[in-house]
Amino acid sequence: MVNQEDVFRKVISHAKEYGYVVQSSEIYDGLSAVYDYTQNGAELKKNIKDYWWKAMVQMHENIVGIDAAIFMHPTTWKASGHVDAFNDPLIDNKDSKKRYRADVLVEDHVAKIEAKIDKEVEKASKRFGEAFNKTEFLTTNPRVLGYQEKAQSIIKRLSRSLEAEDLEDVKNLIEELDIVCPVSGSKNWTEVKQFNLMFGTKLGASAETATDLYLRPETAQGIFVNFLNVQKSGRLKIPFGIAQIGKAFRNEIVARQFIFRMREFEQMEMQFFIKPGTQKEWYEKWKELRMKWHLSLGMGAENYRFHDHEKLAHYADAATDIEFKFPFGFKELEGIHSRTDFDLSNHEKYSGKKLQYFDPELNQNYVPYVVETSIGVDRMFLAVLSNSLKEEELENGTTRTVLKIPAVLAPTKAAVLPLVKKDGLPEVAHKIIDELKWDFNVVYDEKDAVGRRYRRQDAAGTPFCITVDHQTIENQTVTIRHRDTMEQKRIAIDSVNDTIAREVGIRNWLKKTE
Ligand code: ATP
Repeated sequence: MVNQEDVFRKVISHAKEYGYVVQSSEIYDGLSAVYDYTQNGAELKKNIKDYWWKAMVQMHENIVGIDAAIFMHPTTWKASGHVDAFNDPLIDNKDSKKRYRADVLVEDHVAKIEAKIDKEVEKASKRFGEAFNKTEFLTTNPRVLGYQEKAQSIIKRLSRSLEAEDLEDVKNLIEELDIVCPVSGSKNWTEVKQFNLMFGTKLGASAETATDLYLRPETAQGIFVNFLNVQKSGRLKIPFGIAQIGKAFRNEIVARQFIFRMREFEQMEMQFFIKPGTQKEWYEKWKELRMKWHLSLGMGAENYRFHDHEKLAHYADAATDIEFKFPFGFKELEGIHSRTDFDLSNHEKYSGKKLQYFDPELNQNYVPYVVETSIGVDRMFLAVLSNSLKEEELENGTTRTVLKIPAVLAPTKAAVLPLVKKDGLPEVAHKIIDELKWDFNVVYDEKDAVGRRYRRQDAAGTPFCITVDHQTIENQTVTIRHRDTMEQKRIAIDSVNDTIAREVGIRNWLKKTE
């Protein structure tokens, strides 16, 4: 049995060693929950953003993209509800002095109960073999039913108390469930308090005239305040969407799990403006489309699931998460929210400007409803990285570390390797690079024996290695080695470009979302 904590630790150290992610300001001992993307990480991140942007903006006639500022007028955050309601309930353990999100402590407890259900299923499926019917087992086994009931009643109570802002009951729940601090092991908890997650800053030179600002905690509001500008200048007809990729900032109470929960992160959001009353249908449609996008990358259907929200945010009438199986379990990767007309109506109220759409078919004005899809670039990055890192046993008894990043997202598409550093082979290799670099990010590598170079490129996630040897000089062919299968083929230099393009070309990948 592989220890998932070890797996996660390996992902983090691999990310550093192979130029993907490091702690920010590391030489000053780092800044908590802030990370820098180094050379390969920056490429992977860019490719993830391109893959999303193309799927959203380029592939949909009725979706356009914008790039709004991080700073926004402070009233934005009154209107959006963030000043009053963007809080997390926090609790401290008096012995360890560690701070936790009270809701997360309870949810982790529930996850443990759910893990017991999974264990029962696993045991039963072994016992019954082929005759095992999982659905029947889940709906009839008394022990499983007991666990399910317990988990549901805890979640219901948590949602009820949070909604009613009954923080005392949240604390009671933690005590009743005998939840202990993972560090001190004690149940010596403080009261539960609300904590606003927005970072404040100031705009202006002198202290007297400076205006208090917030760093945006989500990119969505930059879309809402520009709704009419974009609709009018683009003559867009409902339904239509506005997409945006950009930084967001949250002063997270507990920021751990590497780039899963950061204080500065990046979001890819799309707000889809629709006729009131059609939100259910569009919400379902976007759930389906977004899941297809994820599945197109081939990271395993079994690693995704929907998790519908019981507790809805202040703006939503339906919400679900696409959860991904990270090394620390299934966790939110993307949110899909039916946001009603909450944001636009409130911006109308606070700004005194009309934010309505004239529907020529109905011959009337209305404030559109909105369905949002919102995914964290960094979480997507972590999903890709953790899913791709494999230790493989080879036939000759050795192991190799390989980063099986979907080829369309891989930072470097090919490495060109001269077999030896002489006999004109480096020159030929450089010539091949000069051809390929117009279309792909490629590298040159001549250090060490070729086997070691293959391993290095495997570990860095490069889908192809192209080796130039003496035969290349004679007949203009090279060997092309495939990262995932390790298969090697001799092909003409002329066909290298097409061979790479077939596997890394965004078109062939995006086709799978159709
Ligand atoms: P969580 O419950 O994990 O705090 P959330 O529900 O607050 O997330 P949303 O407000 O729905 O998240 O934000 C949309 C997406 O932005 C999330 O699905 C996630 O991918 C990403 N995201 C949110 N907070 C962070 C963070 N602190 N670090 C990295 N990504 C984040």
